Amino acid sequence: MIIQLSNNISTEQKGALIASLQELKIQPNEVKTQFKNYIIGIPKSDFDIRLIGNMDGIDDIHRVSDGYKLVSKKWKTNRTIIDLGDEVTIGGNELAIMSGPCSIESEAQIENTVAHLLKNNIKIMRGGVYKPRSSPYAFRGLGMEGLKLFYQHCAENGIKVITEVMQVSQVEEMLPYVDVFQVGARNSQNFNLLDVLGKVDKPVMIKRGMSGTIEELLASAEYVFSNGNEKIVLCERGIRTYENAYRNTLDLNAIPILKEKSHLPVIVDPSHGIGLRQHVATMALAGVVAGADGVIVETHEQPEKAFSDGQQTLYYEQAEKLYAQLKQTKDLVNTF
Ligand code: PEP
Ligand code: MN
Repeated sequence: MIIQLSNNISTEQKGALIASLQELKIQPNEVKTQFKNYIIGIPKSDFDIRLIGNMDGIDDIHRVSDGYKLVSKKWKTNRTIIDLGDEVTIGGNELAIMSGPCSIESEAQIENTVAHLLKNNIKIMRGGVYKPRSSPYAFRGLGMEGLKLFYQHCAENGIKVITEVMQVSQVEEMLPYVDVFQVGARNSQNFNLLDVLGKVDKPVMIKRGMSGTIEELLASAEYVFSNGNEKIVLCERGIRTYENAYRNTLDLNAIPILKEKSHLPVIVDPSHGIGLRQHVATMALAGVVAGADGVIVETHEQPEKAFSDGQQTLYYEQAEKLYAQLKQTKDLVNTF
């Protein structure tokens, strides 16, 4: 059950509401976000919702039977649109395209990526400065030094930055240099990290875990929302299956299912999803047909020289063709 409190609820009204919930043996969980205050209750048995629905200081009350509550579509019929400022949004009718290298490697690389994005009117640049790598000997990112350069060049050119945060201790120092925090597949259920990201007022894109279920992804999003941050984006990036003809199995089914279950925007990541450059564009387009609100794609001036994930990274010429096809496809999907 979600109780949306009025913005002007008085202390007495709130006290009375909490007392009534306790009388009904419902533990009240208070959630304060950047937009609204809520009380979440998990009733143990059926009860007459009117017992509290008529109390003063309440805007609305909803029954939500799902394990996740605030990210469920059962109570919020309008889809969430995330505003990154400067007319850049995620969700809604316009496709959000996030493009850039797997890893930030140098200032020159940032500059040539920014030029590529500007040329193609792409408003969000991706790039990791803290890289989760299977081997400790692989390139693990330029850290804060790289992030500052990344952010500076993007901000000067009206481009928004999405980058991965790997641990709680990084959140505070990264905060001024990030427009969207990315939670990687390996951290999809790092609940301490999700708790902390719920306390900042910056959007968070949560990738589905390597072998995470849809339910688990939504529960991870619930952590962020219930800690106070409503600006959440979900990302399907492929899951690990028995198939080894490609890097991961991009679960296109997840896209319509997530959109049916949740009001949050859904992004598709075909780069990690299939892991093979020659098929990234096809799967990106398939993701948009499946209903994705945006695409995150790895691009590089010279993918064969990329410090990470070169095999799944598009050349700029390939990316340019893809951006145009993505926009056409989204226009078509909008007419469905
Ligand atoms: C990435 O975006 O480069 C990345 C490491 O992604 P994932 O967490 O999906 O593996
Ligand atoms: Mn990558």
